[in-house]
Amino acid sequence: MFVLSSPSGAGKSTIARRLLKEERNKLKMSVSYTTRPIRDGEVDGKDYHFVDTATFRQMVEDDQFLEWARVMGDNRYGTPRETVFKDLEHGRDILFDIDWQGAQQLFQLAGGDVVRVFILPPGLKTLRERLEKRATDTQEVIDNRMDRALGEVSHWDGYDYVLVNDDLDDCYECVQTILTAERLKRSRQRGMIGFIRRLPEL
Ligand code: 5GP
Repeated sequence: MFVLSSPSGAGKSTIARRLLKEERNKLKMSVSYTTRPIRDGEVDGKDYHFVDTATFRQMVEDDQFLEWARVMGDNRYGTPRETVFKDLEHGRDILFDIDWQGAQQLFQLAGGDVVRVFILPPGLKTLRERLEKRATDTQEVIDNRMDRALGEVSHWDGYDYVLVNDDLDDCYECVQTILTAERLKRSRQRGMIGFIRRLPEL
């Protein structure tokens, strides 16, 4: 389980998209449920499953989320339990674009099976410029996102890796290196045991 978190505007979505494209069948994105309104260009079922608050509450009651949190005011976001389990059973790695609360909850549930990466913007001025360039949000939403960014950054110490995205290509390369190194960890090399046992015969 590979968690990417960052304040919005730090480049996380671009990195996630690139990683998913290059990793194709090996890495799957976890599609969260959310009660926030759909944005222009977003697709229901692909970017998020967009649901109303009553539906979300019912899903919480039915224990359908692996983790969930309130993010940005009263908007709720949650990771569906069922699809994550299915993908893990099929041996796929899963990419999570969730906030620090989600990263913390996943870590409490799955400990060493979770890799948490935090991406920082090069500075707050750059972050504001990036959010304004995106032009999908109102000034009020941008101000809220800036406030939230400061709060989010304060949780950087709850992550295994912290990167500064001052160059998108460099940052992407680091994320890819982390993914590769984590996959090669001895504890994740279950398939290796048989190979090593057979080594003397080879
Ligand atoms: P946005 O509304 O910009 O798509 O996302 C806002 C924030 O919610 C981002 O920091 C994103 O990582 C976080 N988020 C998205 N899905 C989930 C989820 O399922 N759980 C948690 N805890 N956070 C999420």
